[in-house]
Amino acid sequence: MTKAILINYEYCTGCHSCEVACKKHLGLPAGEFGIKLSETGPYEYRGAPEGPGRWEWTWLPVITKACDLCESRTEKGKMPACVQHCQAWCMYYGEVSELAAKMDGETRWALFTK
Ligand code: SF4
Ligand code: SF4
Repeated sequence: MTKAILINYEYCTGCHSCEVACKKHLGLPAGEFGIKLSETGPYEYRGAPEGPGRWEWTWLPVITKACDLCESRTEKGKMPACVQHCQAWCMYYGEVSELAAKMDGETRWALFTK
Protein backbone atom coordinates (compact mmCIF):
# COMPACT_ATOMS: atom_id res chain seq x y z
CA MET A 1 0.00 0.00 0.00
CA THR A 2 1.42 3.35 -1.02
CA LYS A 3 1.04 6.40 1.17
CA ALA A 4 0.97 9.89 -0.25
CA ILE A 5 0.30 13.54 0.41
CA LEU A 6 -2.43 15.32 -1.52
CA ILE A 7 -2.49 19.12 -1.78
CA ASN A 8 -5.48 21.15 -2.89
CA TYR A 9 -3.29 24.03 -3.97
CA GLU A 10 -6.21 26.17 -5.09
CA TYR A 11 -6.51 26.94 -1.36
CA CYS A 12 -2.81 27.22 -0.44
CA THR A 13 -2.17 30.73 0.91
CA GLY A 14 1.63 30.55 0.72
CA CYS A 15 1.94 30.82 4.51
CA HIS A 16 5.13 28.64 4.68
CA SER A 17 3.90 26.79 7.80
CA CYS A 18 4.39 23.40 6.12
CA GLU A 19 7.99 24.33 5.25
CA VAL A 20 8.78 25.39 8.81
CA ALA A 21 7.10 22.37 10.42
CA CYS A 22 8.96 20.03 8.07
CA LYS A 23 12.36 21.65 8.66
CA LYS A 24 11.83 21.19 12.39
CA HIS A 25 10.76 17.54 11.94
CA LEU A 26 13.75 16.66 9.76
CA GLY A 27 16.24 18.93 11.57
CA LEU A 28 17.37 20.46 8.30
CA PRO A 29 19.87 23.36 8.13
CA ALA A 30 19.25 26.65 6.33
CA GLY A 31 18.78 26.23 2.59
CA GLU A 32 17.54 22.61 2.75
CA PHE A 33 13.90 21.59 2.64
CA GLY A 34 11.66 18.54 2.91
CA ILE A 35 8.89 20.59 1.34
CA LYS A 36 9.42 23.87 -0.50
CA LEU A 37 6.93 26.41 -1.71
CA SER A 38 6.96 27.46 -5.34
CA GLU A 39 5.17 30.55 -6.59
CA THR A 40 3.74 31.11 -10.07
CA GLY A 41 2.64 34.64 -10.96
CA PRO A 42 1.05 36.98 -10.42
CA TYR A 43 0.34 37.68 -14.09
CA GLU A 44 -2.70 38.25 -16.29
CA TYR A 45 -3.40 35.93 -19.22
CA ARG A 46 -3.46 38.07 -22.33
CA GLY A 47 -2.78 35.46 -25.03
CA ALA A 48 -4.78 32.51 -23.68
CA PRO A 49 -8.22 31.86 -25.22
CA GLU A 50 -10.08 32.68 -21.99
CA GLY A 51 -7.92 35.75 -21.15
CA PRO A 52 -7.57 38.66 -20.53
CA GLY A 53 -9.20 39.16 -17.18
CA ARG A 54 -7.93 35.83 -15.84
CA TRP A 55 -5.03 35.91 -13.43
CA GLU A 56 -2.53 33.33 -12.27
CA TRP A 57 -1.07 33.54 -8.80
CA THR A 58 -0.44 30.08 -7.47
CA TRP A 59 1.42 28.67 -4.51
CA LEU A 60 2.35 24.99 -4.61
CA PRO A 61 4.50 23.25 -1.99
CA VAL A 62 6.76 20.68 -3.66
CA ILE A 63 7.97 17.68 -1.68
CA THR A 64 11.70 16.98 -1.96
CA LYS A 65 13.97 13.93 -1.75
CA ALA A 66 14.48 14.64 1.96
CA CYS A 67 10.83 13.82 2.75
CA ASP A 68 10.38 10.58 4.69
CA LEU A 69 6.59 10.99 4.76
CA CYS A 70 6.98 11.49 8.51
CA GLU A 71 7.18 7.73 9.15
CA SER A 72 8.18 8.26 12.79
CA ARG A 73 4.99 10.26 13.33
CA THR A 74 2.52 8.29 11.22
CA GLU A 75 3.54 4.94 12.74
CA LYS A 76 2.29 6.39 16.04
CA GLY A 77 -0.99 7.51 14.45
CA LYS A 78 0.00 11.18 14.12
CA MET A 79 -0.40 13.25 10.97
CA PRO A 80 2.73 14.31 9.05
CA ALA A 81 4.06 17.57 10.48
CA CYS A 82 3.32 19.52 7.31
CA VAL A 83 -0.28 18.31 7.15
CA GLN A 84 -0.87 19.04 10.83
CA HIS A 85 0.44 22.60 10.55
CA CYS A 86 -1.21 23.60 7.28
CA GLN A 87 -3.06 26.83 8.05
CA ALA A 88 -5.54 26.35 5.22
CA TRP A 89 -6.25 22.62 5.83
CA CYS A 90 -5.53 21.97 2.17
CA MET A 91 -3.14 19.02 2.75
CA TYR A 92 -4.15 15.39 3.24
CA TYR A 93 -2.21 12.21 4.07
CA GLY A 94 -3.32 8.66 3.32
CA GLU A 95 -3.51 5.84 0.81
CA VAL A 96 -3.04 6.89 -2.81
CA SER A 97 -6.37 5.35 -3.87
CA GLU A 98 -8.29 7.17 -1.11
CA LEU A 99 -6.58 10.46 -1.85
CA ALA A 100 -7.07 10.14 -5.61
CA ALA A 101 -10.81 9.76 -4.99
CA LYS A 102 -10.84 13.31 -3.57
CA MET A 103 -9.59 14.74 -6.86
CA ASP A 104 -12.95 15.94 -8.12
CA GLY A 105 -11.95 18.11 -11.04
CA GLU A 106 -13.43 21.18 -9.32
CA THR A 107 -10.13 22.52 -7.95
CA ARG A 108 -6.43 21.98 -8.67
CA TRP A 109 -4.70 19.14 -6.85
CA ALA A 110 -1.18 17.70 -6.62
CA LEU A 111 -0.48 14.15 -5.37
CA PHE A 112 3.01 13.32 -4.06
CA THR A 113 4.41 9.89 -3.22
CA LYS A 114 7.88 8.83 -2.09
S1 SF4 B 1 5.60 14.39 5.27
FE1 SF4 B 1 7.04 15.05 6.89
S2 SF4 B 1 9.05 14.92 5.91
FE2 SF4 B 1 7.53 14.93 4.25
S3 SF4 B 1 7.25 17.06 3.66
FE3 SF4 B 1 5.72 16.64 5.23
S4 SF4 B 1 6.68 17.23 7.17
FE4 SF4 B 1 8.31 17.02 5.64
S1 SF4 C 1 0.86 25.25 5.25
FE1 SF4 C 1 -0.82 24.90 3.76
S2 SF4 C 1 -1.49 26.95 3.18
FE2 SF4 C 1 0.51 27.20 4.16
S3 SF4 C 1 2.01 27.14 2.46
FE3 SF4 C 1 1.80 25.02 3.21
S4 SF4 C 1 0.18 24.08 1.93
FE4 SF4 C 1 0.05 26.32 1.68
